[in-house]
Amino acid sequence: MPELKIFTGPMYGGKTTRLLSALERYVYQNKKVALFKPSGDERYSTEMVVTHSGVEWEAYRVPDGESILNTIPADCDIVAVDEMFMIEGSAEALIYLYKTCGKTILISSLQLSYEGEAFKEMQAIMPFATSIEVCPAVCSKPYCNEDAYFTARISGGTDLIEVGGIESYEPRCHNHRFN
Ligand code: ADP
Ligand code: MG
Repeated sequence: MPELKIFTGPMYGGKTTRLLSALERYVYQNKKVALFKPSGDERYSTEMVVTHSGVEWEAYRVPDGESILNTIPADCDIVAVDEMFMIEGSAEALIYLYKTCGKTILISSLQLSYEGEAFKEMQAIMPFATSIEVCPAVCSKPYCNEDAYFTARISGGTDLIEVGGIESYEPRCHNHRFN
């Protein structure tokens, strides 16, 4: 049966780690997997999805949902997308692949923007989920150690989407989400 699984949470919550270990299990089940990532995300590598702890998986880089539909190999059973919120039109494409084509979909995506707002693509796809795993990080404020569901931007930019690592973003608990 097709499934639509979402791993969400703040940065450093282990979303990509969980996505890649789920993909590894599908490979052991002899399923054909295709992984996609946004073309805007070039933090570590342009052809690999890489976790913050260094695990890698080869990925197609796509600018939008249409490109997912045009790139997907015909014999692929599992369609996975890292940083889904960054890919314009990805929700519509993935809902089509799940509902109409019966593919299993795995998604890793930020839960909220740095301003604590929901992302459009995530709002569109969440109602179709067969499972949603929220993956909290640990709050980065010294001595806090609480679960972090928020991502604070410390670099000062104001664009909704800006790709960055620990120099730009930190996971934060509710109390420290804005400071
Ligand atoms: P995500 O995709 O959610 O951004 P990754 O799966 O790439 O996260 O990386 C998760 C890893 O990041 C953790 O397993 C841990 O090694 C590391 N890490 C770094 N900072 C933190 C933090 N503040 N809280 C939790 N994990 C962290
Ligand atoms: Mg990630």
